Amino acid sequence: MLNAQANLNHTPLAGLYIDGQWLSGSEQLTVINPATEAPLATVAGGDAKDVEYAVQAARQAFPAWSKTSGAARGVLLRKIVSGVQERRERLIELQSRNNGKPLFEAAIDVDDVIATFDYYARLAEALDGQQDSTVTLPSEDFAARLRREPCGVVGLIVPWNFPMVTTAWKLAPALAAGCCVVLKPSEVTPLPELELADIIAQSGLPAGVFNLVCGTGLAVGAPLAAHPNVAKISFTGSTAVGVQVMQRAAETIKGVSLELGGKSSLLVLADADLDLAVELASGGGFFNAGQMCSATSRVLVADELADAFLERLKARAEAIRVADPFEPEVEMGALVNQAQYQRVLGHIARGVNDGARLVCGGKRPADLPRGYFIQPTVFTDVPLDSALWREEIFGPVLCVRRFATEDEAIALANDSEFGLVASVVSRDPGTADRVANALQAGLVWINAPQVIFPQAAWGGYKQSSIGRELGPWGLQAFQEIKHVIRAAF
Ligand code: NAD
Repeated sequence: MLNAQANLNHTPLAGLYIDGQWLSGSEQLTVINPATEAPLATVAGGDAKDVEYAVQAARQAFPAWSKTSGAARGVLLRKIVSGVQERRERLIELQSRNNGKPLFEAAIDVDDVIATFDYYARLAEALDGQQDSTVTLPSEDFAARLRREPCGVVGLIVPWNFPMVTTAWKLAPALAAGCCVVLKPSEVTPLPELELADIIAQSGLPAGVFNLVCGTGLAVGAPLAAHPNVAKISFTGSTAVGVQVMQRAAETIKGVSLELGGKSSLLVLADADLDLAVELASGGGFFNAGQMCSATSRVLVADELADAFLERLKARAEAIRVADPFEPEVEMGALVNQAQYQRVLGHIARGVNDGARLVCGGKRPADLPRGYFIQPTVFTDVPLDSALWREEIFGPVLCVRRFATEDEAIALANDSEFGLVASVVSRDPGTADRVANALQAGLVWINAPQVIFPQAAWGGYKQSSIGRELGPWGLQAFQEIKHVIRAAF
């Protein structure tokens, strides 16, 4: 078992798990605790030759693994579930230490990982007997069947904001489908994935089915995305890197699933419950210190509620306890690293320069001289052409804007290059459904916090996504479709 604290100033952790062996790579990654700025561990990451080795191992394992029964794959996925359950506390701690999020948030992540592996264990089991289905043709001379097969060796590239969750959403369905995997975690938060890899290493999965290569995007992610023997890349991260991944994948016409950025809205309609709206705005903006692709960072409020809403949201934001994730009653932790901290402060300064009105926050909390902490921040009167309104900030920053009509609110929400999620607050089910149907977003919550279930699809419209994760769609993303048509015997 890894011990990131014990590792401090000691030998680098092996950051490669290839063909059933732990290995060290040539690159040294320093992993920090963002709440203290202190180094947590050094991880030896890999490069293109390690990617080559991992892809080869996965290729060799594929013929046997792809032929295992769904039931057998389900058994192994359930062993991973048990392993994560056994190390739940340890994984929660690692998530918080490496990412800066409060323990209660890290617990939600780890429970989501358990639920996701459990769900795909069931889907794997259900594959038996369903691999082939009959297709009815308009001819008695021919018969057809449709066969779903695992698509091969897949590359999974994930970010740092929900490290183990984004991994589980890809890894569990890929293994359930019968694919072999090369996983590249974020170089910023590799510790939770290293622990997960250790659990997988002990689950009895055949060597080469699951491979992990820690490292930077350029050293490991880029060669993985370009590798000719990788059938598919499933990537979660920024839009800019998503474009590069797609370009590299295009060279060998490999399939891509992309989960990218967002600039999502929460719509507070005229009949909304104001207290609920304030809670949902606060959760949608400040959970995970706002480092969420699904952050509802635009809050659109009906004219008649706007003054009262802003007053209550300001009071709520100012009352949020920002602190080290291990402090009692902490509500918001640290941003993930210095680069992200400076990026968000830069957005705040630029927003003020562009004429937006700062309602509260905008700075480092006075009682936290160290660590990458930023106060929950609320802006209003944000110009519609400003970066604050249009770009993904990925920090605890909300922009509140009033609207006069439902149509105006929908138009404001849809006026974005992204379309990941949206939230609607209204007491009237008909109104809420009408607005939800008009929004260009892959997931709309009505009067609900951002609850996510493995059974429901994840992904968005426009530049937020290509494809969908979770549910049966997440499994199909790792399957090829084969039609067999034969002449009648
Ligand atoms: P990022 O794009 O910088 O990095 C994501 C991953 O890609 C990392 O593992 C990184 O090492 C790797 N990478 C970097 N350059 C690469 C390259 N040239 N080729 C291949 N791989 C490369 O993103 P991040 O800063 O880690 O995460 C934040 C971003 O992730 C935000 O934009 C957020 O919206 C997005 N995100 C989206 C979802 C979603 O479901 N839509 C979920 C979580 C995060």
